[in-house]
Amino acid sequence: MIHDFAIIGAGPAGAMAARKLEKLGADYILLDKAEFPRNKPCAGVLSPKINSLIEIPEEIIERPLTGYRIFGPSGMVVESEFPDKGCIVKRENFDEFLIKASGSQPVKNHITEIVEEGNYYELRGRDGNLQARYVIGADGAASAARKTCGSQIGKVAISVQYEFSLDEERVSERIGNWFEVFYLMEYGYGWLSPMKDGMKVGIGILAEKKPDIWGMVERFLDHPLIGPKIDDAKLMNKEAHSIPMSGPTEVLASGKILLAGDAGGFVYPGTGEGIYYAMGSGEIAAEVAHRHMASQGNLVLEDEYNRELEAAGLLALRDIDFIEDNLSSSENAEKYIKRLKFMADRS
Ligand SMILES: Cc1cc2nc3c(=O)[nH]c(=O)nc-3n(C[C@H](O)[C@H](O)[C@H](O)COP(=O)(O)OP(=O)(O)OC[C@H]3O[C@@H](n4cnc5c(N)ncnc54)[C@H](O)[C@@H]3O)c2cc1C
Repeated sequence: MIHDFAIIGAGPAGAMAARKLEKLGADYILLDKAEFPRNKPCAGVLSPKINSLIEIPEEIIERPLTGYRIFGPSGMVVESEFPDKGCIVKRENFDEFLIKASGSQPVKNHITEIVEEGNYYELRGRDGNLQARYVIGADGAASAARKTCGSQIGKVAISVQYEFSLDEERVSERIGNWFEVFYLMEYGYGWLSPMKDGMKVGIGILAEKKPDIWGMVERFLDHPLIGPKIDDAKLMNKEAHSIPMSGPTEVLASGKILLAGDAGGFVYPGTGEGIYYAMGSGEIAAEVAHRHMASQGNLVLEDEYNRELEAAGLLALRDIDFIEDNLSSSENAEKYIKRLKFMADRS
């Protein structure tokens, strides 16, 4: 049997693509190499933009979020309040919720190769092979679908995150309902994310700078702005992952394969925010693929996808060279914080 659509990856991009195809009554299969619920290295910040895509149920909210508190190299602080409610979640809970909301059930399979066979693709996987006419590559930062498209991410950050447990009262006293971002290191940044009864502390640095990432995170944890906040906290977990840093890739669709989420580079490089962009691009990819099939090839898939992404503002992520412009030196970072403060004081 040849499916009309196969979605590789059931994270936020894949779950939203499945939700759209389910609503359209399409014939599709959602695949993931992991069993759900599964964790994904992430600070778990959901900015208010996500409210336009889906309503977040109270029971999965770890903390409501007031906004970003941003620290410059000199210690200058800017508080940037969200215009609407944001929150922090655990990814195992959020991703599970999104899959349930899609009405879909991921099939476990680790796809290793996508081979074009005339008018369909064969997806070769560790748990068997299957066929589909369209493929939505929502398989994250190390995407196999992206390789098949011959597409490349320009800049990537290596990121590590430590998870601590700490009683709720101390988390509230020390950080409260703010996501703290620290522009203290060249070509990267650090963060502190408050959970209900714990904190996540992480850093992300451009991979091309070949950073000693584990040494850097240890120094970050000892920094006078961070150390006191994790005093008495118990280290529970350490994890590493990569984050695309130069916006959507040049090629976002090739043949009948479309890239969404981290696979296509949809991340805001200033804060590493990718969930909203993954959800938005996943939904658009599914809608465009479905429309293309209905048009019986009268539309140009890549043009249609780019047009819809542009209309949703998602391609604007390409215009930002945030790291080069703002984080290539302490001086630049300080100037950036001053600009933010100037705007915050006047808003
Ligand atoms: C340390 C860290 C902190 C972050 N913090 C935040 C934050 O606070 N807020 C925010 O908005 N963003 C954050 N991000 C970015 C965010 O996590 C990603 O942008 C987001 O998860 C992208 O969603 P996705 O669906 O594209 O990919 P993913 O969430 O990575 O999902 C991809 C899925 O594909 C599956 N998969 C991969 N390869 C295959 C394969 N070959 N076959 C089958 N299945 C496969 C994986 O198992 C996974 O389930 C953070 C990233 C990192 C690394």
